[in-house]
Amino acid sequence: MNSSSLQPGAAGQPAARPLGVLAALPQELGDLIATMQAESGVVTRTLGRRDYHLGTVHGVPCVVTLARVGKVAAAATVSALIHVFDVQAVVFTGVAGGVGPDVHVGDVVVGETLLQHDMNAEPLFPRHEIPLLARSRFNADDALADALAAACERFVAQEGAALAERFSAALPRFKTALPRVHRGLVISGDQFVASAAAVDALRAALPGALAVEMEGAAIAQVCYEYDLPCAVVRTISDTADEHASTSFSSFLTDIAGTYSTGILRHFLASYTPAGR
Ligand code: SAH
Repeated sequence: MNSSSLQPGAAGQPAARPLGVLAALPQELGDLIATMQAESGVVTRTLGRRDYHLGTVHGVPCVVTLARVGKVAAAATVSALIHVFDVQAVVFTGVAGGVGPDVHVGDVVVGETLLQHDMNAEPLFPRHEIPLLARSRFNADDALADALAAACERFVAQEGAALAERFSAALPRFKTALPRVHRGLVISGDQFVASAAAVDALRAALPGALAVEMEGAAIAQVCYEYDLPCAVVRTISDTADEHASTSFSSFLTDIAGTYSTGILRHFLASYTPAGR
């Protein structure tokens, strides 16, 4: 336990351990830091070339930061959240490529299980197994994943129609249906997947995969090692094919922040850190 968690809270009780909230890129945090600034003010600590923003958002004490891109960046950032800021749990929000056959741009995927698709120490260890840890799949915390999925459903139900009006030109799905919320396997690797051949290979190797990204399973591994609850929510920015980089870039610029802002607002407003 570090000294920050020993500082007294308002009633003389130990202050609540904060929730760690992270994304890879600034657009993926939506209005979170501005909301923190307005609600409680922000204290920023810089460590390992990253800014950690401390304050309260929608009533929840949080440490908000950007991991930047890739598994090493994500693991290093989560390690600091655990050791320096004593977070009680970690939530990652961001975008991802859709891999599941029914996962479309504009849908949302909440990770239940996460796996590093580029881990391969064959023939010493089975494909995808993390050497010396005896596992390839890491589970998100059930309660956090349930709460995130419920927040996504509320976001779509309340704001889906307005989103459709704003973004239907960019998201063909909005012409026929509102975004869907999926739950299941999220796969991570140090690779921006951007070809039909690459996404087909991932589907063949990992038939249940819903989304591919570059950080989630690294975060889940570190949280597993420290017995800390974690959850990952990803809005689908592209379908990991030849159009991925164009689709990713315009989604990131125009739309990702709207999703993160809405999903996190619903999630944090009903967050109960009971028993942690
Ligand atoms: N900084 C660069 C590169 C971002 S890489 C830029 O802004 O252009 C893509 C990011 O989005 C990663 O953090 C990854 O987690 C996620 N992502 C979205 N689509 C992806 C895909 N098709 N393959 C892998 N990661 C993807």
